[in-house]
Amino acid sequence: MKHIVVLGAGYAGLRTVIRLQKLLHGQAHITLINQNPYHYQTTALHEVAAGNIPPEKICFDIADLVDPAKTTFIVDRVSSFSPQTRLVHLIDHDDLHYDYCIVALGFVSETFGIEGAEENSLPMTNVRQAMQINEHIENQMAAYQPNHDANHLRIIICGAGFTGIELAGELADARPRYAKIAGVEPGQIEIEMIDASKRLLPMFNDALANYGIRLLHQLNIRITQHARINKIQPDLVDYRLDGEDSTTPLHQSQAGTIIWTTGVSGSSLVGQAGLQQRRGRVMVSPHLTAPNDDQLYLIGDVAAVMPPNGKRPYPTTAQIALSMANYVAEDLAARLNNRERPDAYSYHSQGTVASIGNTRALGMASGHSYMGYPASVLKKMIMNKSLLELGGAKQVIHKGRFDLYH
Ligand SMILES: Cc1cc2nc3c(=O)[nH]c(=O)nc-3n(C[C@H](O)[C@H](O)[C@H](O)COP(=O)(O)OP(=O)(O)OC[C@H]3O[C@@H](n4cnc5c(N)ncnc54)[C@H](O)[C@@H]3O)c2cc1C
Repeated sequence: MKHIVVLGAGYAGLRTVIRLQKLLHGQAHITLINQNPYHYQTTALHEVAAGNIPPEKICFDIADLVDPAKTTFIVDRVSSFSPQTRLVHLIDHDDLHYDYCIVALGFVSETFGIEGAEENSLPMTNVRQAMQINEHIENQMAAYQPNHDANHLRIIICGAGFTGIELAGELADARPRYAKIAGVEPGQIEIEMIDASKRLLPMFNDALANYGIRLLHQLNIRITQHARINKIQPDLVDYRLDGEDSTTPLHQSQAGTIIWTTGVSGSSLVGQAGLQQRRGRVMVSPHLTAPNDDQLYLIGDVAAVMPPNGKRPYPTTAQIALSMANYVAEDLAARLNNRERPDAYSYHSQGTVASIGNTRALGMASGHSYMGYPASVLKKMIMNKSLLELGGAKQVIHKGRFDLYH
């Protein structure tokens, strides 16, 4: 019997296992490895980081979805994998030999080598880090009471991309709660985003992007744009504005909470395995395998797929991770059943919606633009759909987003 090893139980890995369990009938045994016993919905990390929903709301047990007759689930950390020997090395378990391996190890925070970013700012790439951000903010608010240092009330988000903006919206919603802890008015909680890009929300057309920026201003979120972050010191972000050179003194913004959301890369294990990659992403074959290794699939945030006639790979999203997983399960099932493999992988985005807090959002879906409250409902429906694809109806009932009426 063939052995399929799946590394990572995020959107890509878990969905692959769920589909394979349906499509395979004794042709192969699956081993799924994940460093936690639970799956978390990464797309809601910012809500946990702001303390607006509890971590349990976005997590569910992986074991509940695993059919032990078809899949062995191992909770452990993958330390490395070798395409040459077809071995996966784990921290606390014996090496595993595979016939097919699906690498779905997801993303890590990218600091771009900026000095002090790792030591002096808080990343937000998993549920533990999101909880740490919430705890840090609450501690800062409590620390304001004895000394009235306004620094404790300031929050800086480094990076105003999709994730940074979604986080800013959630922090704005959380202001009344933070203010209560600090014993101040909500308006005294300052939120600033610092970002190098020329245009915010580049994934949206001008009308939508401008709407998003207006919303951020209305929520009293300061946006420092055209600002290249140079260094992070404890409680301090140093940056230069476009056009300024190294002779210009650095600008500084001060805050008791500094959160790092400038970007992500694919898992570093991909590069360590000797695969040709850029920022942890491998340009995969039309069947989503490594360029010279048809036994090794790479999906989700560790994979790069070029759109037809495109110049840049598709952005990494949960949506494309799920779509890749569906494809890989079909492809593997066809190979194991000696059937013709499906045509080359292709992707059709169903749209993108960015939330700015719980009841405001903006986005495009099925060729239509959505803004404000209707967009926030759409966002929650999209999250429920992903949850259905991963956790099934049971998880949608328990963890779905039905907080629609306000
Ligand atoms: C705040 C935020 C908001 C987002 N919003 C959206 C959105 O609205 N829509 C959208 O489509 N996308 C969104 N994204 C992007 C989306 O979350 C990612 O593209 C998606 O999670 C990628 O799926 P994946 O399966 O590749 O990786 P992940 O979901 O990160 O899963 C990787 C899994 O591998 C495990 N793992 C990692 N390393 C190891 C190891 N060494 N050993 C064992 N296990 C390991 C991890 O614990 C995790 O379970 C958002 C991301 C963030 C951070």
